[in-house]
Parts: sequence; C-alpha cells; structure tokens
Amino acid sequence: MKAARWHKAKDIRVEDVAEPAPGPGQVKIKVKWTGICGSDLHEYLAGPIFVPVDAPHPVSGDVAPIIMGHEFSGEVAELGQGVTRLAVGDRVVVEPILACGECDSCRHGKYNTCDKLGFHGLSGGGGGFSAYTVVGEQWAHKMPEGLSFEQGALVEPAAVALHSIRVSSLKAGGTAVVFGAGPIGLLIVESLRIAGASAIHVVELSAERGAKALELGATTIINPANEDAVARIRALTPGGVDVAYEVTGVPAVLQQCIDATRYDGETVIVSIWEKEASFQPNTVVLKERSMKGTIAYRDVFPAVMQLMTQGWYAADKLVTKRIQIDDIVDEGFEALVREKTQIKILVQAPD
Ligand SMILES: [Zn+2]
Ligand SMILES: [Zn+2]
Repeated sequence: MKAARWHKAKDIRVEDVAEPAPGPGQVKIKVKWTGICGSDLHEYLAGPIFVPVDAPHPVSGDVAPIIMGHEFSGEVAELGQGVTRLAVGDRVVVEPILACGECDSCRHGKYNTCDKLGFHGLSGGGGGFSAYTVVGEQWAHKMPEGLSFEQGALVEPAAVALHSIRVSSLKAGGTAVVFGAGPIGLLIVESLRIAGASAIHVVELSAERGAKALELGATTIINPANEDAVARIRALTPGGVDVAYEVTGVPAVLQQCIDATRYDGETVIVSIWEKEASFQPNTVVLKERSMKGTIAYRDVFPAVMQLMTQGWYAADKLVTKRIQIDDIVDEGFEALVREKTQIKILVQAPD
C-alpha cells in the first residue's frame, strides 16, 4: 500500500509499504482523510522531535523511517482477535496515543503524561498518511451520525485545544489571551467561546491569521509588530486577564504571557519548545501567579465530536486545502511553509 514516510528532515517519501494486519485487540482502519499538523511540519523542517531515530520507540518498537499522520478518520476494515467494541464498517476517529500502560501516569489514567508517550503517526506503529493503519480498539472512537470524514480529521487538533482549556483555571465569564493564532491557537479561540470566556484577546503577527481568529470569535486582535501587546491587554482588561495561553514556542513570549495575567492569573503553556525560555520569577511570585503545561488530550474525543455535531470547529472554516498523498511534500508541507493563508491542509488517503 502507499504511505508517506519520514526518513529525515526535508525527506518525506511516498512509497510502497506492507499492508498491516490487526493483532489481538486491534482494528485495521481504511484511512479516509488525514490533516497535516504543525508538529508534522516541525518534523519535516527540523526533525527528529518525536520520531525515533537512534533507538526504537519503547511502545511502538519502531525506528525511522516511520509513516506519518496522526490527525485522521477512517472506516474499520478488519477486526483483530477479541475485539468487541467495534464492527467492520464503523466510522472512527483515532486518538493517536502511544502509552506504556504501566507508569505512574498511566496507572492513574493520565495516559497523555506517560513516561514513554509517543504518537501513532510520529513515533512509529503506522500512521494516517497511508491507505490502512492498525490501532488498539480503545484508541478508535466511533463517530456520531452526521459527522463527515473530513470533519473527523479535525478532532485530534480540536482535542488538543479543548484539553488545554479543561486543564486551565478559566471559568465561564473569565478573560483570556491567546498568543499565537496558528491552527491550535485558532482552535483554542473556539474552545474559549465554548467555555464561555467573556474576553478573548489574540496576539498574532500575521494579518490573515488575525482575521481568521476574529471570524472564530476572538474579541480583540493585537499585532505585536505595531503595539505593545501586554500594555494593550492590560488596558483592555484592567489588571490583566485570568488566563494566558502560550501557543507560539517563541522564548520572549513566555514573559509576555505572565505579564498579561492578573494577580493569581495563570499561564498555560501549550507549545512544544525547541530551546530554553527564561522568565523573571518575581513576576510570578509578587502576583501569586501560576504556570501550567498541557500535552495532547485525554478522555476528550467523544466530547469534541459532540461539539462538532453542534457546529463547533467547523471544517469549512479551518480546512484551506485538500490534496492527494502523491502531492504531500510540494502541495502539503512546502505549501504550509510558503503560503501564510494556509490553516489546515487535509490529505485524502490513497486506495
Ligand atoms: Zn497534531
Ligand atoms: Zn505510561
């Protein structure tokens, strides 16, 4: 079958690989649509980050080259031995988590903070940029009636966003700022509306992305090239906001997040970082502020799909391009680098 595999940075190849077969407790899925994620782009431009290269990933047992693609929907094509929750033909979205099941986090159900955390489509075990893939049945969530396969490919990034709100201290009526309006930042804006935030400031350099954030429900767009973002936020929301979401991964932004929050405010770090970032601890101490990290999602895919049936996270607002797998490098990864207007590019699975 055809699949797109990461060999090294700037080297993703569409090639013929063996079709996987489901083992006990696993299901084989005919992939339909798969989104290209910011972390896929990182692996393409500057990887490896999550891709195992020197040693096999402890959960998948795989090492590069690995099949990419972790944001996908599909149809159950075959059941492994002992599968009971799913049937052939079920429409599903995959929660692409690789977790050990044995560490302290896993034993307490916090599988997204597993010591050996990896992702299906980044850390081996197959992926969504292929005709078929195989996952444990517990990771395949049945899609509600009326949700399209294209919409299903957006569940994973929306889950990242919704989870970041759920672990934060934001309350209905609270105030927030989102630094960075890439795909996850934009989905956080929508999630803040779902959560009932009364003010959603967005700090973003790109005018196109700022305009999209407004369309999705941001109450203020601030371009930090033109004005002091922190001063503006504090003028609009006296004392500062309740929660700042850091979605840029740019070191200097971390201090701005802290400074944008009020006393007792919280900075939620959503980005994965390429290098260290520093901040003045007194700015946390003297205002009794706090800081929290968030990774991926847990126990939230069914809720995200229900919200989608209610009209949230609509694909027609977020998907800017649909392509075939043979064009994944030029029209996918390279287009995301080249074209600032791109938000989410979906790849149709090969037959
Ligand atoms: Zn992703
Ligand atoms: Zn674990």
